[in-house]
Amino acid sequence: MMSFQTIKQMVFLVIIFAVVLNFHIAFGSEDINLFRIGTGGKSGVYYPIGKIIAQGISNSSISIEKNEEKTTSTYLSFAQNSGGSVDNVQGIIAGEIEAGLVQADVASWAFRAAHVFKENSKAQDIRAIASLYPEKFQIVTRRDAKVGNVDDLRGKHISIDELGSGTLAVMRIVLEAHGLRETDLKPVYLKPVFTHDKIVSGELQGFVMMAGAPMEAVSQLLNNGISLVPIAPAIASQIKTKYPYLVPGKIAANIYPGIPETPTIQVHALLVVHKAMDNELVYKITAALWGKQTLSLLKAGHPQGKSIMPNTALTGVSIPLHPGAKKYYQQHVDRFNASQLK
Ligand code: GLU
Repeated sequence: MMSFQTIKQMVFLVIIFAVVLNFHIAFGSEDINLFRIGTGGKSGVYYPIGKIIAQGISNSSISIEKNEEKTTSTYLSFAQNSGGSVDNVQGIIAGEIEAGLVQADVASWAFRAAHVFKENSKAQDIRAIASLYPEKFQIVTRRDAKVGNVDDLRGKHISIDELGSGTLAVMRIVLEAHGLRETDLKPVYLKPVFTHDKIVSGELQGFVMMAGAPMEAVSQLLNNGISLVPIAPAIASQIKTKYPYLVPGKIAANIYPGIPETPTIQVHALLVVHKAMDNELVYKITAALWGKQTLSLLKAGHPQGKSIMPNTALTGVSIPLHPGAKKYYQQHVDRFNASQLK
């Protein structure tokens, strides 16, 4: 005889399976829907943070009444790995994911149909739920490659991330600001999960990533003799004049034990959805994100999670807020920096 517990687990698995295959499943008057969050590579920061946010959303038991159909929609959330910011915008527009983590610079290009989105005016339909945390441009090299600055990357085997990442777009800007062409390096286009062994063996001399710090891809290499390459503040300021969301910043000393403070550029990571998403749903997602439970999961679950705070929820938001999120902030001005509401 199967125990009640086993039967319950089996029913749950069938639901998950059906949801994953069909995106929603109806039980009489109840509709279960997916809220998929596009993130990045598995050893970055988007992925673990996206997983925690998804857990927070699922735990919040969000449901929306659809009166005309007499149904209640409830939401289960999952994080999916992806190529990164550019991929996440494309996924939202294509309806393949409901939300995504996106660098503020990439989001603003999408909203203005500019730069990597020049040919894609549909990308203008993305809207923000919140700003989460600052990402730092991390240029990680083997110490024995003796790379003291960006110019020294010339001729080196460096992974500059895949097409679809926000990292690659920023790396191209960084190279341009130093008067370097991509082909001045010996570039490969891989996510850090695929570069780790190649860096350990010396086949690659480094990789770059625009991500929160600390991130696993760097921490895993600390015993292999690595350095972070600085971007000179004067060049960082120059980049900002052309790309206002890429601003001078620092990777603090000992974020990675033994690695000194390193000047670089930074950008805010945003949580983004499609403008056509239901206002009430976005309102409830925003409430779930800033609820006590999700905040404590974030604090306990990842070092970067501690810096996801209501007082910076509107900092560096480069595109309009979704009306559902805006309503939430307007109703809770005491917790958020309302002067930043636009
Ligand atoms: N910001 C990176 C990108 O869009 C991803 C960072 C991460 O995975 O944490 O490519």
